[in-house]
Amino acid sequence: MTHDIQALDRAHYLHPFSDFKALSEEGSRVIVSAQGVYIVDDQGNRILDAMAGLWCVNLGYGREELVDAATRQLRELPYYNSFFKTTHPPAVRLAEMLCRLAPAHINRVFFTGSGSEANDTVLRMVRRYWALKGRPDKQLVIARENAYHGSTVAGMSLGGMAPMHAQGGPLVPGICHIRQPYWFGESNGQDPEAFGRDCAAALEERILALGEERVAAFIAEPVQGAGGAIIPPESYWPAVKAVLDKYDILLVVDEVICGFGRLGEWFGSMHYGLEPDLMPIAKGLSSGYLPIGGVLVGDRVAETLIEEGGEFFHGFTYSGHPACAAVALKNLELMESEGIIERVRNDLGPYLARRWAELATHPLVGEARSLGLIGALELVDPATGERFDKSLGAGNLCRDICFASGLVMRSVGDTMIISPPLVIAHHEIDELVDKARAALDETARRLA
Ligand code: PLP
Repeated sequence: MTHDIQALDRAHYLHPFSDFKALSEEGSRVIVSAQGVYIVDDQGNRILDAMAGLWCVNLGYGREELVDAATRQLRELPYYNSFFKTTHPPAVRLAEMLCRLAPAHINRVFFTGSGSEANDTVLRMVRRYWALKGRPDKQLVIARENAYHGSTVAGMSLGGMAPMHAQGGPLVPGICHIRQPYWFGESNGQDPEAFGRDCAAALEERILALGEERVAAFIAEPVQGAGGAIIPPESYWPAVKAVLDKYDILLVVDEVICGFGRLGEWFGSMHYGLEPDLMPIAKGLSSGYLPIGGVLVGDRVAETLIEEGGEFFHGFTYSGHPACAAVALKNLELMESEGIIERVRNDLGPYLARRWAELATHPLVGEARSLGLIGALELVDPATGERFDKSLGAGNLCRDICFASGLVMRSVGDTMIISPPLVIAHHEIDELVDKARAALDETARRLA
């Protein structure tokens, strides 16, 4: 069976974010089942999934309630759309619940099939909003280097991933990028809070350089995920907020990873006290059981689109898909009734922080950081305390060692990142940290 699947995989399946040739030569690992925080491969190996799939399986694997919600809805109404003045209960109930959980000024949601589509929707709404406000020149969006906002053309253009831009051909015009608040990687040892303020000052400088009357919005993740679990200094967000208020620029906070409990609040914006005009969401919305995303729209933008906009020529076949919405609704109900958010904030986040920080003393680790249930280790050469030569591929080596020893930890360059399911138990966090330490030991041994 393994052999068949791998052979067919090689023959027919172009995987996302993969070197097609290398993968076809090396073959794929085959994952066949999962339960709790563990995935199981076709050799029967049980692997602790410290990435919750792709930052999405917040409630963990094997939740029968979500399976039941999907099958019930698929039997009753497997598909209908919300175009042409129709609607259906699951999407409406989900919209209502999302608006109850979101900050008070957010009372509307537009559904999409994914986080990338959510960010495409954001771009359309931002530009439409300013046009309706009689400011058609206010069209530029400022984003950040090394941000990830998805893989569609608009998502990739909003994102700041240089390798994606290099392959992407002409990007969507009117988007520019400023520096990221990546203290370990880019501060040269500056005081963290001063560094955070400098990164916010870069936003103001760019606004002034572009002309405030032309800048429509700033988009950012509360904590950068795919860029390397980059937690900004505490000074960063308050300073950014002050700049945006000063120049009347919309704030878009990409909650695709930080939403639904990752930072110990329903939304990352709540952790940082932000009041975004638009919040793209996906992933943890359904714990990844079925694909669904959306944009939470603040009153300021929503009222304008509703009162002055006429028809908004935008939407997807699967916007608010009934089965996806039913699963997302059940997922949020379970998160609420099981007190998942409070548990991450008061128990699991602090416990992980304590255990994760122990890894900072490992000779291979230049920094160990975490917030809620997201964390990173920065790998450095013990001989110099500096980064390894890139050609050694230290991060990928460590990732592969982790996987072989029963732990999924992802590498972004030489930054190792985790984002485990929000239902992880203390003893599973212990296992995660122990396995990470053993993998660091083995990585150091092989690189010595
Ligand atoms: N925004 C952020 C912050 C993400 O991390 C991702 C995916 O990783 C996306 C958007 C894109 O989401 P999707 O892969 O569902 O299109």
